[in-house]
Amino acid sequence: MKILVINCGSSSLKYQVFDMSDESVLAKGLVEKIGLPGSFLKHRRGDEDNIIVETDMPTHETAIGLVIDTLVGLAHGVVKSMDEIEAVGHRVVHAGEKYACSTIVNDDVMQALRQCIELAPLHNPPNIMGIEVCTKLMPKAKSVAVFDTAFHQTMPQAAYLYALPLEFYRKYGVRRYGFHGTSHRYVSERAAHMLGRPVSEVKVITCHLGNGASVAAVDGGRSIDTSMGFTPLEGLIMGTRSGDLDPAVVPYLMYKENMNTEEICNLLNKKCGVMGVSGVSSDFRVIEDAAAKGNQQAQLALDMYYYRVRKYIGAYAAALGGLDAIVFTAGIGENSPEVRAEVCKHLGFMGVELDLAKNRVRGKEADLSTENAKVKVLLIPTNEELIIARDTKGLVDSH
Ligand code: AMP
Repeated sequence: MKILVINCGSSSLKYQVFDMSDESVLAKGLVEKIGLPGSFLKHRRGDEDNIIVETDMPTHETAIGLVIDTLVGLAHGVVKSMDEIEAVGHRVVHAGEKYACSTIVNDDVMQALRQCIELAPLHNPPNIMGIEVCTKLMPKAKSVAVFDTAFHQTMPQAAYLYALPLEFYRKYGVRRYGFHGTSHRYVSERAAHMLGRPVSEVKVITCHLGNGASVAAVDGGRSIDTSMGFTPLEGLIMGTRSGDLDPAVVPYLMYKENMNTEEICNLLNKKCGVMGVSGVSSDFRVIEDAAAKGNQQAQLALDMYYYRVRKYIGAYAAALGGLDAIVFTAGIGENSPEVRAEVCKHLGFMGVELDLAKNRVRGKEADLSTENAKVKVLLIPTNEELIIARDTKGLVDSH
């Protein structure tokens, strides 16, 4: 079975084609600047070099049309016709409380996703558009939706409720949902595999440290807490998001700086985090470089970042009542030995012992801890697309 995985953003679109007989990736690529000047497609078949197609793509329909043309094209294609693609797996950010696992898309699902637009105004509309366009252009393929929020639906009430009057939860669904669920699920399953134990017996803390970042406490394969909340703004310090702060700061700044709600949301999402503190960049490579050259604000941003991750690990070890492994994943977690070393620095009291020589690795699965460490530190590259493809195959097989 061949499966197309689509991750549709507001002006970008990522895709991969899997051959599920061996889970190999036949082709992958992305379209950027949809609806903007300078739109282009970057495509790679198997291990071949990337090709770039620069062309005007005013809509998601033109973008997905070009992806389809490329996938069936003689020069760089991987199928003779799109009829060979049995199903399309879509990444969808928010399913509210409606779905705790992936699902075949039908009218009810589409309605539920539309109802969640209020909760994820930036993410759900392009996700929905991706499903609609693929359904139109590939009418024979089944559509499956895989949700970022689904994995965290196992959180207990004590973890997902905010201490607001309960009417706001009941009326508006104000609660912690959590995001990056597909990634936390994938790496927590791989962690159990690497530890050589059943998922149901393992307690892990998974640190998804990318431009967006979140930590999850996973007990026996079930998420029991996670740092992102009602929106992806809560929790860790991120590239441009503030993460946790006293809610009273928000009205205070609005008053002092004469900001409206849109302006304060823009500030907290786009101008804070390591970007706001360092004043240098949201990109960790640039910040680490600046800090190494003596930029104190860059160093401060890094120190604050390490401290916040470490604090969450401590909290989640308590929430789990024990810990077998800490997992690092995503752009920063997979590629920055410094971040992993600094985060693990004061965790020796819990049985964490990083092997600094083993830690000098990037982007591949590895156990980074000393032989006798009670709590293992694992590097596991995330693979959300593979989970989406597997869920899609599973649902199509059983229908
Ligand atoms: P993601 O959102 O998972 O794509 O991760 C993006 C983040 O990973 C950016 O902040 C990048 O700077 C960071 N990143 C990528 N490669 C490296 C690297 N070699 N060292 C440090 N950070 C990196």
